[in-house]
Amino acid sequence: MPKEISRRTLIELSVAGAAALAAAEAKALDRPSLPKDQKIGFAVVGLGKLAQGQIIPGLRRSKSAKLVALVSGHPDKAKRIAAAEGLPEDAIYNYEDYDRIAKDPRIQVVYIVLPNGMHAEYTIRALKAGKHVLCEKPMATSVADCEAMIAAAKKADRKLMIAYRCHYEPKNLEAMRRVRSGAIGKPRLVVTDMGRQADPNDPSDAWRLDKKLAGSGGLGDMGIYGINAARYLLNEEPIEVRAWANTDRSDPRFRTVDDMICWQFKFPSGVICNGSTSFDYNATMSYEVWGEKGRLQADPGCFYGGNHVRMVDGGKFTEIDIPEIDQFAREMDWMADVVRGKAPLVSPGEEGLQDMRLITAILESVARDGATIKTDWGYKRAVDPAAVVDVVA
Ligand code: NDP
Repeated sequence: MPKEISRRTLIELSVAGAAALAAAEAKALDRPSLPKDQKIGFAVVGLGKLAQGQIIPGLRRSKSAKLVALVSGHPDKAKRIAAAEGLPEDAIYNYEDYDRIAKDPRIQVVYIVLPNGMHAEYTIRALKAGKHVLCEKPMATSVADCEAMIAAAKKADRKLMIAYRCHYEPKNLEAMRRVRSGAIGKPRLVVTDMGRQADPNDPSDAWRLDKKLAGSGGLGDMGIYGINAARYLLNEEPIEVRAWANTDRSDPRFRTVDDMICWQFKFPSGVICNGSTSFDYNATMSYEVWGEKGRLQADPGCFYGGNHVRMVDGGKFTEIDIPEIDQFAREMDWMADVVRGKAPLVSPGEEGLQDMRLITAILESVARDGATIKTDWGYKRAVDPAAVVDVVA
């Protein structure tokens, strides 16, 4: 990466970032009761694989957020985790008494880590309880639910952030900046492949194969990373989509959800994106951006760690060498800063809604055997992550 490009880019980005931060601070919704000097209290809803494996450990490492409450349908598991995390028993809620969080001043943010089909209900209940919400991807299972969540946040005057961890991850941020700075010349093509083998015997995958709880198959679970990456890499929105599926309905995993879906997005600049997702191919979370002068390759690009982002020029590969961070701690620190009015909302509900609209358009095209679906809804992201999120945490 030539030094002059990175210096110029940094100057442009820091000016844009400072403006966005100033605007965010000016609009801060900070309530007087918010702890100014303490960490922001998070309640984690749904104590499954992600909550136990990444989010609760991330909260332990967080600079600005801390675990203060648990919401679970399994009291024994919740008690065990509460004891391990040093939480009192009165910090444990279940799905029935969840609304009592309204009276719990320890909780400022509710982190929704439930099956996708439950995101809308538990987000809206948390917002009605006066809490800010960080909600896992995909935001919900329908456009209508996403809209209802956004409306509930507005009504409650609370923040709603969708947990797009790649918006806060240093290598992905650097990838965005390289593409913006012209390091590969004019972008022409984005290729994204995001999928894995789903295991019906794993309880974490069982609901992912049930359309009611998951919304879609690999598309909402893994493909969404490719949809979102194409959008954040190019910083523009698709205007058309075409998609096809290949699903073996005799495979018991695919009774209600699709398996492999391949789609094409057309962007206003003329860039084409070829995307694929599957619950029946070898695990991958990769993307590439082909430009007139070079290529940016991320393989893997969206794992929890161990991502490799490279600049490719002909046969020459140059690794982008940036230290790893805890992506979950970073994301929750950002949410804590949003709540305090110190940082702009980079991945708001509108960002989750845009992906849900695109998922819906992809599924519509699949149902119509690859028909072209117009997707130019006029969405423009309010804040470009590349402009405001610093690479080193
Ligand atoms: P899990 O199945 O492992 O956990 C979900 C938890 O939700 C369960 O353990 C359970 O917790 C609770 N739950 C409540 N009702 C149900 C139900 N009917 N069926 C199943 N679980 C239920 O899923 P994950 O942790 O893997 O995923 C949770 C969310 O996080 C999903 O939206 C997923 O897309 C997202 N995710 C995001 C990732 C990222 O990198 N950002 C990575 C992985 C997942 P309890 O027993 O405590 O009630």
